[in-house]
Amino acid sequence: MYRNKIDSLKRKSRITNNCFNLLLILPAGAIHRAKTGIFKKSLRYAPLTLTYLASLIPKDLNINLKILDEGTDNLSSLNFDPDLVGISAMTATSTRAYAIADNYRQKGIPVVLGGVHPTLMPEEALSHADSVVVGFAERVFPELLRDFSQNKMKRIYEDPGNFPTENIPIPKRDLLKKNSYITLNSMMATRGCPCNCSFCAVPNVWRKNYFKRPVSKILEEIKTLDGNEVVFIDVHLLGDKEYSKELLEGLKPLKKSWFGLSTANALFDKEILDAVAESGCKGLLIGFETISPDSLKEIHKNPKIVTKYSDLLRNLHDNGIRVNGTFLFGTDHEDKGVFERTVEFIDKIKIDLPRYSVFTPYPGTPIFKKLEEEKRIIEYDWSMYDVEHVVYKPKNMKPEELEEGLHWAWRETYKLKSVLGRLNGTRSLYWLGLLLNLGYKYYAWKLPKCTKEIISEINLESK
Ligand code: SF4
Repeated sequence: MYRNKIDSLKRKSRITNNCFNLLLILPAGAIHRAKTGIFKKSLRYAPLTLTYLASLIPKDLNINLKILDEGTDNLSSLNFDPDLVGISAMTATSTRAYAIADNYRQKGIPVVLGGVHPTLMPEEALSHADSVVVGFAERVFPELLRDFSQNKMKRIYEDPGNFPTENIPIPKRDLLKKNSYITLNSMMATRGCPCNCSFCAVPNVWRKNYFKRPVSKILEEIKTLDGNEVVFIDVHLLGDKEYSKELLEGLKPLKKSWFGLSTANALFDKEILDAVAESGCKGLLIGFETISPDSLKEIHKNPKIVTKYSDLLRNLHDNGIRVNGTFLFGTDHEDKGVFERTVEFIDKIKIDLPRYSVFTPYPGTPIFKKLEEEKRIIEYDWSMYDVEHVVYKPKNMKPEELEEGLHWAWRETYKLKSVLGRLNGTRSLYWLGLLLNLGYKYYAWKLPKCTKEIISEINLESK
């Protein structure tokens, strides 16, 4: 009690002197948490959220900043006395974010929440925070910090839209520990997505807008990076043909090996595929989602593209590009046979690194509302919305059958025979491909052990 009072007085005096301690946290879902998650060490590229936020701090404010990515560091070992805490949350990490926020607020430390989930559910987020940022942070976060320093922080800061992409600052990558990630060279060229897949939160968060940074700025930023690799974390890097051509042309002379995300649709265009290969692309994450034309139609994707998947894989492999293909199970057109059909198909067309998930309707989206009206939502604990747990009643199977089928597909796909068969589609990056497959094999084995009880327990520990 006495200690709390002293801390509170210290905080007041720091803020009065216009010099305060800011802690920015990126919470991790239970299965991705440092030490307690499936992997003891993060196998990820560096996230950009915290380093972007750090770059937005106005220079005239005297802020002592600490950032913490729960994917690599534990909050319990943090030795920092914040005056303000900022937490960025997705749906699956929102339960954890709220637990952390409640804990700081109980100690009298104000908390700001932002990110995808608070943007979709601002009222809910406000019940755990002093202030909520809705939408992009670039324009409103500096204003929020100024307001805080003058003791007039508002309850909501909402980005006005029409996002200007010209002057996005370079993220402060030097704040992250190099050895904690596969690479620090994460980049973002675009924001949002021009597509409208029914299961995806992106069109709801970014209001179906697709913002593109000037190519010259991206190339300038890439030149500041150490190392030969670049990971574009854009949800759809190739969503605009003319822009993609300009970017890919600009990447060529830099001679970097790059990795990124794209739809299959964008890559059926030979001009784009050739430009992708010539620009140094070595790996793509492609959301195939399903091999059923009816299911593709259901999720607002072109049902005809499934017949072209095999040719696409061959073309990418011929160009030395490996594919991390994502598939989701549980749409209304799928029955229990979908797991076996998908696993066979993936082996046949040699997807290098397949990833499975279950259809997940995010709260705050129209599909969630529809399923709720149909009384098909069976889970309201957002930490289970990690796309690996069933949160709604599928139409043609029981929820347990969907979950068992998901686990079965993971296990089958990551049997050694299947891994080795799929990896011989191209010789490019063989050992990296094998290493990542072995990582996913371990994940496939651990996943069924991540039950709701375990996840809840981990979410509440070490706040
Ligand atoms: S293409 Fe990807 S990011 Fe875009 S709406 Fe579909 S799933 Fe979302």
